[in-house]
Amino acid sequence: MYSGPGVKTSPDFPIPDKMRAWVLGDPGELNLTEKPVPVPKRAEVLVRIDAVAICATDLEIIDHGPPASILGGMPFNKNFTPGHEYMGTVVALGPGVDEYKIGQRITVEVHAGCGQCKRCREGMYTSCHNYGLNYGDVDKGHRANGFTTDGGFCEYQVNNINTLVAIPDGMSDEEATLVVTAGTAMYGLTELGGLVAGESVVVTGPGPIGLLGVAVAKAMGAHPVILTGTRDNRLKIGKELGADYVVNVRNEDAVEAVRRLNGGKGVDYVVECSGAPNAINDAVRMVNRGGKVCLAAFPHQETPVDVAHIVRNNIYLFGIRGEGKSATHRAEAFMTQKRFDATKIHTHTFPLDDLPTAIRYAKDRVDDAIKVVVKAKGVAAHRVAAE
Ligand SMILES: [Zn+2]
Ligand SMILES: [Zn+2]
Repeated sequence: MYSGPGVKTSPDFPIPDKMRAWVLGDPGELNLTEKPVPVPKRAEVLVRIDAVAICATDLEIIDHGPPASILGGMPFNKNFTPGHEYMGTVVALGPGVDEYKIGQRITVEVHAGCGQCKRCREGMYTSCHNYGLNYGDVDKGHRANGFTTDGGFCEYQVNNINTLVAIPDGMSDEEATLVVTAGTAMYGLTELGGLVAGESVVVTGPGPIGLLGVAVAKAMGAHPVILTGTRDNRLKIGKELGADYVVNVRNEDAVEAVRRLNGGKGVDYVVECSGAPNAINDAVRMVNRGGKVCLAAFPHQETPVDVAHIVRNNIYLFGIRGEGKSATHRAEAFMTQKRFDATKIHTHTFPLDDLPTAIRYAKDRVDDAIKVVVKAKGVAAHRVAAE
């Protein structure tokens, strides 16, 4: 029977001893196995995973390894379960936890820092100095589920209470998986200065973070918001999420288009979400002198950067990692208030057992896929039975 020291459970949410879990073998290889259901410790809960979205970073981890780090190294053949953009229901409480109730629906952010390093103490837990140190003699208690500890491509996972975000009944499972994506966009905008009302913003790259970056910037009052990209179907969704203008960079020069659309001037902020090789050089030419650029995507190769232009024009560059400083809670507040409809970027749902198909849709953008979600079938049946 499922139990652990000081762990509270409820007969309304019976927990099995074992669960289905996908594990990473060699690069690109995922296998469906059985694992014990994990047991929450102090300040942790057990989450029954009701839905998990696939992120471009998952694809990166599954094929190449970083930024995942398991036992201080590559994540392959270590019985590691990836997946980090999930939501679900709290079904067990670790010792002393009274912040959440059994049966409560929540979504999660990724990073529970160590809580003791300088950056964690500053609220920058996504930049924890003890990243990945959670084993053996170097166990600092760091958790980033799906990166340094087991993630969400399974049926249950333990989460530190600091990573939980309560969600309202009216928010669907699929929408709730997008809170952390909106939270990453929110973190970028708040790190750039936060008060973007009336300021001009360009978002480059209409992937999930870019599209929700448009939505968050608009919800924060930015004007105009310009989205650049190469796919008309995604640019159209950007318009629906609030972009004042969209630019297909296959048809015109991105920097010239931005200046034309902004009255001949550069903009105040650029949020770079494309990872394109020349993206930084374009971004620093899209901003005005003294403008700020947030880098939220990474190119695969090292790329030459025009440093002289950046220095001469007093341009600020910010690299952001993840969804720090509780940005996810601010994003959830916008979504609960229906300030934008994040579900416009959710395109497909598959059962958990079909994860490889779901990954193929996300990777190859089959059928114009943007956000692909997987759900454990058994969970859906449980919920029907419980109601
Ligand atoms: Zn992600
Ligand atoms: Zn830390």
